[in-house]
Amino acid sequence: MGGGAAGLSAAVAAARCGLDVLLIEKYGFCGGATVAGLSGTICGLYSSGERPEQIVFGFAGEFHERLKASGGVKDPVPFGRTMLVPHDSFVWKELADHYLRSEKIKTLFHTTLIATYAGGDRVETLVVRTLDGLQAIQPQLVIDASGDAEVVHGIGGETTLGKNGVVQTPTMIFRVGGVAMDVFLKLDPNQIEALVHEANRSGKYHLPRTHVYLFPMPNGREVLCNMTRITFPDGSVPLGVSSEDMTYAEMEGRLQARSYATFLRDRVPGFAHSYIVETGAQVGIRQTRSLVAKSRLMNEDVLAGKKVKGAATFSAWPIEAHGAGELKIVYLEDDTYDIPFETLIPLRGTNVLAAGRCLSAEHEALASARVTGQCFGMGYAAGAAAALMLRENIVAQNVRGEDVQHWMKTRGLKLAGEA
Ligand SMILES: Cc1cc2nc3c(=O)[nH]c(=O)nc-3n(C[C@H](O)[C@H](O)[C@H](O)COP(=O)(O)OP(=O)(O)OC[C@H]3O[C@@H](n4cnc5c(N)ncnc54)[C@H](O)[C@@H]3O)c2cc1C
Repeated sequence: MGGGAAGLSAAVAAARCGLDVLLIEKYGFCGGATVAGLSGTICGLYSSGERPEQIVFGFAGEFHERLKASGGVKDPVPFGRTMLVPHDSFVWKELADHYLRSEKIKTLFHTTLIATYAGGDRVETLVVRTLDGLQAIQPQLVIDASGDAEVVHGIGGETTLGKNGVVQTPTMIFRVGGVAMDVFLKLDPNQIEALVHEANRSGKYHLPRTHVYLFPMPNGREVLCNMTRITFPDGSVPLGVSSEDMTYAEMEGRLQARSYATFLRDRVPGFAHSYIVETGAQVGIRQTRSLVAKSRLMNEDVLAGKKVKGAATFSAWPIEAHGAGELKIVYLEDDTYDIPFETLIPLRGTNVLAAGRCLSAEHEALASARVTGQCFGMGYAAGAAAALMLRENIVAQNVRGEDVQHWMKTRGLKLAGEA
């Protein structure tokens, strides 16, 4: 369920293990938050410290290499103590299509899950709205890669929402063209932040976030602008699982995108002739429901670089928590932490696993673990685990991460640490 980084990698792993796979996605393309939300860069591949280097591979590495071969990424760019890889959204969609076809994954785009029914402790029926009408699907096993834990929530499984209901802020990301790239590439991020502060003193703009990210796109002509911060006027944060909140967030996001783009044109060297190329198909949602699972990734686990046996994947990405009033970034120094496989095993649903952003994690821990490189790793492990469960007749709650890793090795599926 879902065709984001986690859902696609889960589908590929399951197909490579010989399962018949159906991928369901409400948009007409894969990519989820990275493409529909235009998050636009792959984070979580590189180490964090004085000399960042690529340490996360597995399916994330494979996807990255194939994007590179298709001209969809160029060189990594620095992000504080680590690096990230900007990518081209169209090439991402093309590559995902290629995977779906070559791995023979049956796919239904423009198809939305609207209800989930359980029989006992098993998901029995998924009701989806296709363009041809409602359909009932009776899966042997479901991987909930919806980002929002839609399947788990749908059968009454327990989930949490942010820190006491307060989630990270949404951002409307946009790309601008017409930039003098040679000038842009020499700008210091601190200089841009100072210019935002100065602009805010003028009273002419609506720029609630001052620590902004601007990344060069692989086409060498455009800049990806991760600048906006969306809250309600009272400072509360819209929820990505409420249509009313999302409607506000989309409109406020466009207002802010226009104001930041005007600020760039007016005040930032190299942007005098710039223009908005596009915003995401939807506002970017960083956090909604997180599972309550067999294991929970704790803030302390991230900060202490905790290692476990049988991890789904691992990470050196910082805690990057976009709050209503501030952006908090805490880097790991020459260390990584593991994401236990058990964070993907809901307490309810013997034939359900989860993958990606809805893993079980504390608020700050999620602000690290949710990035694309790790969503790929979680999905790939979950897809392999699905095959193990069906082959060995194991219920989700009895799956062990070590067995999943062993199974992946015997099937030739690379673990996250394997280049
Ligand atoms: C503003 C913002 C900036 C970010 N910046 C970066 C960045 O620079 N680098 C980085 O690596 N990460 C970044 N992230 C995080 C990253 O993009 C996401 O956390 C990650 O892509 C999540 O992947 P996922 O597969 O778990 O979920 P998603 O990408 O959310 O995929 C879920 C998929 O399920 C589909 N779906 C959901 N519900 C249903 C339903 N009911 N029926 C059918 N389909 C459904 C959705 O359409 C979607 O395609 C950012 C996120 C945001 C919001």
